Amino acid sequence: MEDLILKGQTLLVEKVINQGICIGCGACVGLCPYFQYFDGKVVMTDQCNADTWRCLQLCPKADYEETSPELERTNAGQGEIGPHQDVIMARARDKGIREKAQYGGVVSSLLIYSLEKGHIKSAVLTDSGNRLSPAGTLAMNRSDVLKCAGSRYSASGGLSALNKAIKAGEDSLCMVGLPCQMEALARMRLMKPDGEEMDSRIALKIGLFCTWAVDYRGLEAFLKTKDVEGAVKKFDIPPPPAEIFQVMTEKGQKSFPLSDIRHLIQKGCTLCQDMTAEMADISVGTVEGNDGWNTVVIRTDRGAELFNAAVREGWLETNNLPVENLEHLKEASRNKRARGKKTGIERLKG
Ligand SMILES: Cc1cc2nc3c(=O)[nH]c(=O)nc-3n(C[C@H](O)[C@H](O)[C@H](O)COP(=O)(O)OP(=O)(O)OC[C@H]3O[C@@H](n4cnc5c(N)ncnc54)[C@H](O)[C@@H]3O)c2cc1C
Repeated sequence: MEDLILKGQTLLVEKVINQGICIGCGACVGLCPYFQYFDGKVVMTDQCNADTWRCLQLCPKADYEETSPELERTNAGQGEIGPHQDVIMARARDKGIREKAQYGGVVSSLLIYSLEKGHIKSAVLTDSGNRLSPAGTLAMNRSDVLKCAGSRYSASGGLSALNKAIKAGEDSLCMVGLPCQMEALARMRLMKPDGEEMDSRIALKIGLFCTWAVDYRGLEAFLKTKDVEGAVKKFDIPPPPAEIFQVMTEKGQKSFPLSDIRHLIQKGCTLCQDMTAEMADISVGTVEGNDGWNTVVIRTDRGAELFNAAVREGWLETNNLPVENLEHLKEASRNKRARGKKTGIERLKG
């Protein structure tokens, strides 16, 4: 009997954490009190005797069949970059936002616009870390959003902040996250017994393009060996063919060959087949060869309504995405899917 009771959590630990393929999305943290996120790692603090297996149902790496969003993806039938209504180029009109943002500031603009217009009440974002790894945080206004602008190339356990907000009774939430985090949310909708209720609290999902994320502690150690110390103002991995990793601190900017940090890529990321956050309402990435702009994939009616309203009301400037950029995005997306599939098959073969 005891074995049965412990099985959900035990399986998650066996299938994901002990295999080293946890990607630190944070979906299980706060859902179950016995998973905690600390400094870039999800750790189990005690045995859980709930028999709902919610942690397993939500985990994007546990392959729990009943909550698999795979069907949604294949039914959509829109090829390499997932279901979409439009793909365009955009940037924030507000220079103050663009200065803080990673690229064109579309994500931060949409967030500030939605908060100020009351389309959402709060947003779960990733902070910049304070001597520890970046972590999820709840943003309520422009200042909170701008504090989180920019990209941290390691996991943040951000979904733990969403679980906490839902538990605290928050609704009209927006979640900004990586493809794995969008998958956890797609699984949430199908999760028994209370996934639908939890999902109903989320008003908007903004996904970020992602090729991979690196292990936070490994990155910290790497930066120390390169004499990068103190607060990092910005990280960047400029689009190909640059092949560099840039770190900006108060002392200036340092660049390293991307090959120097490839060994830090999280093992779980090598299994991922989604580059463009296909399960979001809107997905946002860079525009190769066009600094300061974003590629925006508008997927759902909810995403389209919000994006179009932000454009109409003067928050965002748009342009056509050159055909060659779209083709390259599709190619990168195809490649990531093929790599992920291959790694998965090799893993099964042992
Ligand atoms: C790990 C990682 C890998 C990426 N890989 C690619 C890629 O291969 N190709 C590509 O085109 N784009 C990639 N991106 C997306 C890109 O870096 C920008 O986030 C995106 O273009 C939005 O730009 P923006 O100017 O609108 O962002 P901003 O307005 O600056 O907003 C960025 C938002 O990202 C959130 N964020 C920051 N770090 C994280 C994190 N670790 N986890 C979850 N959310 C986070 C913040 O909360 C913030 O709200 C990646 C991002 C991350 C975090």
